[in-house]
Amino acid sequence: MSETKMHLVPWDRLQANTVSVFRAAGSEAREAQLIAEHLVEANLRGHDSHGVGVVPMYINGVKSGGMVMNQSLTVAIDTGAMLICDAGQGAGQVMAHDAMALGIARARDEGSAIVSLRNSHHIGRIGHWAEQCAAAGMVSIHFVNVVAGAIVAPFGGTQSRLGTNPFAAAFPRDGAPPVVVDFATSKLAAGKVRVAHNKGVKLPPGALLDNQGKPTINPGALFDTPPGSLTTFGEHKGWGMMLACELLGAALVGAPTQHQKDGNGAVINSMFSVIVSPERLGTSGPFAAEMESVLGWVLSENEGGGSVKLPGMPELETKAKRLAEGVPVDAATLEQLEKSARDVGLTGFGAL
Ligand code: NAD
Repeated sequence: MSETKMHLVPWDRLQANTVSVFRAAGSEAREAQLIAEHLVEANLRGHDSHGVGVVPMYINGVKSGGMVMNQSLTVAIDTGAMLICDAGQGAGQVMAHDAMALGIARARDEGSAIVSLRNSHHIGRIGHWAEQCAAAGMVSIHFVNVVAGAIVAPFGGTQSRLGTNPFAAAFPRDGAPPVVVDFATSKLAAGKVRVAHNKGVKLPPGALLDNQGKPTINPGALFDTPPGSLTTFGEHKGWGMMLACELLGAALVGAPTQHQKDGNGAVINSMFSVIVSPERLGTSGPFAAEMESVLGWVLSENEGGGSVKLPGMPELETKAKRLAEGVPVDAATLEQLEKSARDVGLTGFGAL
């Protein structure tokens, strides 16, 4: 397996070209912009698994009917404390954005809100939605299920049963970036295996089983017929959290759940979000003080030579570097972007 060459692409060029692909595919201007901004932000923050590399999957989704363009979010149930929104398989970057905006407004009025987003096309990097809440001064937690064909074996099993069901939480700070916890409940996000496969690099041990249930470090095993299975992070603990994402994110609110092996080609996400406004509750002062005490305490280890980072920090370090140097995109991904652009009638993805 030989590692492929990376191209360093200016983020704004990547974003403008991605907007063009979605405009050509039929997205209205706001939708194309929100999708492109989200994907390039994922690249900037180092999550190439959720960056422009998913464009081919989205364009295939548009063509197969799995992703419905220019969809509007509707509120199906509103009990005051809880909003259940239907996305109708609309573009996740619009559906999740609009659902979070509703939740933020509700939490601003009431102090807290639970918002459920049902049946959206892929909503990308979940931290993005936690950051939207944090930018409005809100603390939030997010449990997400994925319906796209089973891809993760439960702890104790060797056959895929669920998706990579991510979790995120964010805590806004005064005068500093928020703490952002954001991860798949599988040891590796599926997109990271795709990126490793495209780059021709091996996986860390323990993250993937081949289709015979045997551990492998070859990312191609996930794309075999039949495919291999990812494993859960944190053994039984990650498995429990993955299941909680499925039950809260989807089963509780009548959203699609993963209960069969094969998907229909589309990636469907549902998200259960709890949004809290410390300001409206009148607790923002003590909360900020306590949080800074905790953060200062955990980071004090670095004075003795430790390298403790707060969740969210690695992404900001990568962002600063990539804003300055460009976003690394491998040759296989560039080829896939070219093909997607031609599929929607463009002559190519555009100059980079
Ligand atoms: P990951 O394993 O890279 O973990 C990321 C988290 O760990 C972040 O909060 C990051 O700040 C923190 N972190 C990393 N290194 C750290 C360090 N040294 N010290 C402290 N904190 C550190 O994430 P992942 O599981 O590969 O997930 C990648 C992305 O995929 C996430 O954005 C997730 O939301 C997304 N995802 C989306 C879906 C979907 O269906 N939409 C499914 C799965 C994953």
